[in-house]
Amino acid sequence: MRNGFAANVPLATHTTYRIGGKAKFFASVANLDELLRAMDLSEKRLILGRGSKVLVSDEGFDGVVIIMRFEGVGSRDRRLVECGEWSIGSGVKDEWLGVRGQGSGAEKLDEARKGESEFAQAGTVYAGAGVGLSALSRFYAGRGLKGLEWACGIPASLGGALKMNAGAYGGDVAGVVQSADVLRGGRVVRLLTKECGFAYRTSKFQFGDVIFGAALIAERGDESEIARLRALYGEKRAAAQPAGYCCGSVFKAAEKPAYTYIEALGLKGICIGGAQISEKHANFILNRGGAKARDVYNLIRTIKAEVFASFGVRLQEEVVYVGEF
Ligand SMILES: Cc1cc2nc3c(=O)[nH]c(=O)nc-3n(C[C@H](O)[C@H](O)[C@H](O)COP(=O)(O)OP(=O)(O)OC[C@H]3O[C@@H](n4cnc5c(N)ncnc54)[C@H](O)[C@@H]3O)c2cc1C
Repeated sequence: MRNGFAANVPLATHTTYRIGGKAKFFASVANLDELLRAMDLSEKRLILGRGSKVLVSDEGFDGVVIIMRFEGVGSRDRRLVECGEWSIGSGVKDEWLGVRGQGSGAEKLDEARKGESEFAQAGTVYAGAGVGLSALSRFYAGRGLKGLEWACGIPASLGGALKMNAGAYGGDVAGVVQSADVLRGGRVVRLLTKECGFAYRTSKFQFGDVIFGAALIAERGDESEIARLRALYGEKRAAAQPAGYCCGSVFKAAEKPAYTYIEALGLKGICIGGAQISEKHANFILNRGGAKARDVYNLIRTIKAEVFASFGVRLQEEVVYVGEF
């Protein structure tokens, strides 16, 4: 289901793990009006982007799951979000400028392929929270804009990437954000980068904040260098990471990268139910087909216990648990 509201919706297909029970209520929203209506469905809310960092409980989520589909990208001369009947806050309707994309994924961004240099001239790309990070990286590269080369191949939404401060190969979201627009307690608030509290794979958006868009630095770079870096990172990613249903790195780096502890203990390849620690990258746990959230969770617990027993290191999850475990 792309847009709309429904009840008892299986969440597995909305996560890259392909795991998880049902959401009591489900809303896929493309503008602030729909977002506000969705938020009225329950006091218990979960905002999802592409579901690439979540492990959803087998029991599902007893509230409303809201998938952000704000997919506009633009410079200052066009509206970014379709405000519709939206009437909260003030000023944002005038400030939010951009293109509202049609279609899906890269096609949406391709539709905005007009006026090549307008982004660099404005120094800013405005993007909705539902825009794919990898597609945005491609969008930047296509216009000779630097700063998002590291993001190619990360299956995130911009909103999820802001929340998690996604990053790779020395770059991260914090390095390209000028400001983020959030719905906070019924009001729209524009936060500057320093107010977002970005740190390693985390941020300090407040509980309940819904990020619906951001202004990103648009700076012209050397096109061949941008292409070279994207190709290099793509190759590195393919060489180091397994294909399959997963959430990327399960644990944050500790004193050393998490995979080094797991690998040293010879845990690669072990399975619980349908979940397996990847043979290729020890910090990846794969759903090999039919895995339950409980299987992944039990593997995580096993790893944490064994790493602590052998190295005295308490690994911290990067994966976000949703529902009861
Ligand atoms: C194959 C693979 C490779 C990956 N590689 C990397 C990598 O190189 N680097 C990296 O950092 N990560 C990587 N990841 C992990 C993941 O893509 C990032 O953590 C990403 O930031 C999550 O974005 P998302 O849209 O999927 O968020 P989700 O998984 O949907 O949500 C993650 C968290 O953000 C919150 N959230 C999502 N959207 C919003 C919003 N609009 N407003 C408020 N809160 C929100 C959710 O409630 C949840 O708490 C990888 C994942 C996979 C599957």
